[in-house]
Amino acid sequence: MKLVDHLINGQNADFPNLSSTPIYNPASGEEISRVVSGTANCVDQAVKSALNIFPEWSSMTPLVRSRKMFKLKEIIELRQNELAKLISQEHGKTFDDALGEIGRGLEVVEFACGIPNHLAGNYTSNVGRSIDSWSDYQPMGICAGITPFNFPIMVPMWMFPVAIACGNCFILKPSERDPSSTRLLSEIVLEAGIPPGVLNMVNGGKDTVDAILQHNDISGVSFVGSTPIAQYVYSEAAKYGKKVQAMGGAKNHMVVMPDADMEMVGDAIMGSVFGSAGERCMAISVVVPVGKDTGDKIKEIVKPKIENLKIGPGLDPDSEMGPLVTSDHLQKVKRYIDQGVDEGADLVVDGRNLKLQGYENGFFIGGSFFDNVTTDMSIYKEEIFGPVLSMVRADTFDYALDIVNKHEYGNGTAIFTSNGGVARQFANECQIGMVGVNVPIPVPVAYHSFGGWKRSAFGGHGVYGMESVRFYTRLKTVTGRWPSGQHTGAQYTFPSNS
Ligand code: NAD
Repeated sequence: MKLVDHLINGQNADFPNLSSTPIYNPASGEEISRVVSGTANCVDQAVKSALNIFPEWSSMTPLVRSRKMFKLKEIIELRQNELAKLISQEHGKTFDDALGEIGRGLEVVEFACGIPNHLAGNYTSNVGRSIDSWSDYQPMGICAGITPFNFPIMVPMWMFPVAIACGNCFILKPSERDPSSTRLLSEIVLEAGIPPGVLNMVNGGKDTVDAILQHNDISGVSFVGSTPIAQYVYSEAAKYGKKVQAMGGAKNHMVVMPDADMEMVGDAIMGSVFGSAGERCMAISVVVPVGKDTGDKIKEIVKPKIENLKIGPGLDPDSEMGPLVTSDHLQKVKRYIDQGVDEGADLVVDGRNLKLQGYENGFFIGGSFFDNVTTDMSIYKEEIFGPVLSMVRADTFDYALDIVNKHEYGNGTAIFTSNGGVARQFANECQIGMVGVNVPIPVPVAYHSFGGWKRSAFGGHGVYGMESVRFYTRLKTVTGRWPSGQHTGAQYTFPSNS
């Protein structure tokens, strides 16, 4: 059976007696390969390899590193079908959706191609008599990224292209549930002429993560995953003196005003709730219609669409929605639907009993839709991360906004309306990091930055864009005088600019 190994210093790493964990094809339910587990020793070897190449890599001119990013972009584009197939086979999402995530990751590589500009510091002459000063952004050294299962290509590409373009070396720890596409991506990095050791991939779960968080030679950690683990990574990494950014979970609301274009709303709900089987941190999981008629219209439009969703294997071109990632996750999503029924929400569409002929052992579930959900229910409060839509009805815009703002998560939100004033007020007053106006999944482009608020993100910088150039560098400011031959004598007062 295929074994996904660590990639350290450009090679499969040879560690005796490592255990391994299964990787499934979610469409068939079969174990298709295994991934080796990691240990503190594996992380240490990866860090040693990175430290070895760091002086050479960080002293290359930014323009040379930028050219390598151009090459990386070219090869990823050439091999994107291979990558998308691996994503679909292990994650379950449709092939086209997998291509979409690669495209969004590529945009970050394109941003990293501009690194000479992004790294530019600034210079001021005469900050004091005959004294000049300049600020410079220097690499941090060795950084690490810990990534979730739901975007095995895009989320690693949120991190390492900018990190290494800035001159750092990087240790990547992908999800143990679908690491094969990430592994191929790491090989492509070598193919692009980026020296072995600049990017190392170490597999595993908590043991590997803890070894990363505790390693003395790792200076910065980026994390994307669920909120409990994000909070753990944030506090542990900080305890060991590291710079850390940790993106967490979400519960994204779509507020729909009575004047919205309802056909557009229907399509937006379908794509953003059920795309990738709801396994996206920017998925809409709660719709908040303002006014009774608005809620009734949404129900009328969306119910038949959910019932007619084309569900099948991700590699079948007719599928609109694939399976969930693992059997455990399928059971978890089903438990939430049971709980919603027990708590008194109206289950308008029930996806629990879906069986697909020929794929009886796959991790499939149909789309589900609850009406009359209230904010005290667990299906409202917690992240389900599956194809389940909850409708929380609101009488007024103010109440809808209040609902959005009181939720503990603050990743994304959207408002659908034809009233610019209402949209503007919503965008200004919502306590959420990423906001869509008639756009259901407002994931910022690569030259802006991504980041949630409240318990959806811990740490000081967003991922990708200029925020990530700042995250992966340290500011150095030099203040210099070239001796003019005039000696003024010792000065015992604090230097001032008089
Ligand atoms: P997860 O938190 O279970 O795992 C994320 C990473 O943490 C994986 O690499 C995993 O191996 C590691 N990990 C898991 N348990 C750990 C532990 N106890 N100690 C240390 N490390 C541990 O998340 P997931 O299920 O892979 O991904 C789904 C979650 O990620 C959802 O909550 C989703 O909202 C979130 N997500 C957030 C964003 C964002 O940008 N905010 C983007 C994508 C996904």
